[in-house]
Amino acid sequence: MNDMTPISAQPAYSERVQALLKRAPALFIDGEWVASSHGKTLAVHDPSTGREIAAIVDASDADADRAVAAARAAFDDGRWSGLASYARERVIARLADLIEANIDELAELESIDNGKPRAASAGYDLPKCVQTLRYMAGWATKISGEHIEPSGAPAGTFHAYVRREPVGVAVQIVPWNFPLMMAVQKIAPALAAGCTVILKPAEQTSLTALRLADLVAEAGFPAGVFNLVTGLGETCGDRMVRSPLVDKVAFTGSTEVGKIINRAATDTLKRVTLELGGKSPVIVLPDVDIGKAGAGAARSIFANAGQVCIAGSRLYAHRDIFDKLLEAVSDNAGKLRVGPSLDPATSMGPLVSTEQRERVMNYIDQGRKAGASVLRGGDAPGGDGYFVNPTILVDVKPEMSVVREEIFGPVLAAQRYDDLDEVAKAANDTPYGLAATVWTRDVSAMHRMAAKLRAGMVWGNINSAADTSLPFGGFKQSGFGRESGRYGIEAYTELKTVAIAL
Ligand code: NAD
Repeated sequence: MNDMTPISAQPAYSERVQALLKRAPALFIDGEWVASSHGKTLAVHDPSTGREIAAIVDASDADADRAVAAARAAFDDGRWSGLASYARERVIARLADLIEANIDELAELESIDNGKPRAASAGYDLPKCVQTLRYMAGWATKISGEHIEPSGAPAGTFHAYVRREPVGVAVQIVPWNFPLMMAVQKIAPALAAGCTVILKPAEQTSLTALRLADLVAEAGFPAGVFNLVTGLGETCGDRMVRSPLVDKVAFTGSTEVGKIINRAATDTLKRVTLELGGKSPVIVLPDVDIGKAGAGAARSIFANAGQVCIAGSRLYAHRDIFDKLLEAVSDNAGKLRVGPSLDPATSMGPLVSTEQRERVMNYIDQGRKAGASVLRGGDAPGGDGYFVNPTILVDVKPEMSVVREEIFGPVLAAQRYDDLDEVAKAANDTPYGLAATVWTRDVSAMHRMAAKLRAGMVWGNINSAADTSLPFGGFKQSGFGRESGRYGIEAYTELKTVAIAL
């Protein structure tokens, strides 16, 4: 059982990655590596060991301003947006090739920085980066406007059309749970649309974004098109969000910070898209294959140690199958091997930081005190890494914080239900509305539930069906705007109506 196995030692880093960790902290602005104006740095830790392994720049206001000025100049002179769209497509596709050629190194770096198992970085995060860049590169040559006949003018007396133009300079702020994947999900559509960008990765996990900047330079993007600023959100991030030279802010992170950013961007009426938190329900009807649904429900909450915005953290199982299903979920949790990110035997790594572990353990305590029973886990294995065992809570009540609040850790709260109207109501009883999953073989019940659930994404009989071509985003306080697919690139465009009397 995972909770009895001692944590193994983190294997040694490769020489290549050790060399990368020794690089002097720097920012990537206007096509080159530059030092910070004030020389402040932040320590980087390996969550598997708690050890300090590198330092990154904690950017100053002057650094942030410099990056914004570079992106503004690069947008305004048309060195990127003015290219043939096929030329943009080719450079973005080259970046995809370079990431693909460096998957091993990037996956190791990501796992050391974030704590996720190396197999997950190499088998999911990195391939997804490559796919997203190739997919969005393809859109560069396909987005276009349309011709419309004005309704109030006699036919043939006007030439009216709508142009779809790049929105301009985009500041893109991403969280630590899928560091490079989130960064690429942001930059790919923006660059394809012809925007210039300033990427700000999370301060806990900036290493792969820094390496990405090397590859951007190698791919042949003109200077100033992609800029990278590392540091704290409330300082350099806030500075860029407020800058009058920035046209758009795209943010993925907590609902709390999303609200702060939305308010900060209001003075200049920037275009804002927000991908925020969730407390997503997984609803299991009594007709399912218990083995499949149990494995899916376990993956939904325990993948990436639960640090997933779309994590299925509220399980609703029909009363007739509740015990059997929970047994299956628990068996799957028991098969997880909690360990350091580079150990090939690890299937669940540590949480990203000591703060995040404390936060998760706190929620488990709150749940216990409020009367929840711990079916599995509820504790943290020893060692210096930030580990928490996969945890299943039962006997929970809708008003408990473990049911209402986003924990962002491997903690599942399971409840029984009797009928579909009741469970739809319970599932919707949340300020969030990101994703929802329904497990059933009843096609009619599936579609009826899909219509009732107030969430940006509803998945059937699978733990997650997020895909590069399908819109991704939430209802309610899970944010607004959509990433991925055509909607994802359109979010980096403005519409311009042109009407000419003939
Ligand atoms: P966070 O909101 O604390 O930080 C995210 C980013 O915002 C970081 O880069 C941080 O430096 C920056 N930031 C913080 N304060 C800022 C400010 N005042 N101005 C500008 N930037 C600021 O989130 P986190 O703790 O890194 O990530 C976890 C959260 O992200 C969870 O709530 C999770 O649900 C959410 N998330 C959502 C999605 C989604 O697509 N909906 C995806 C992943 C994570």
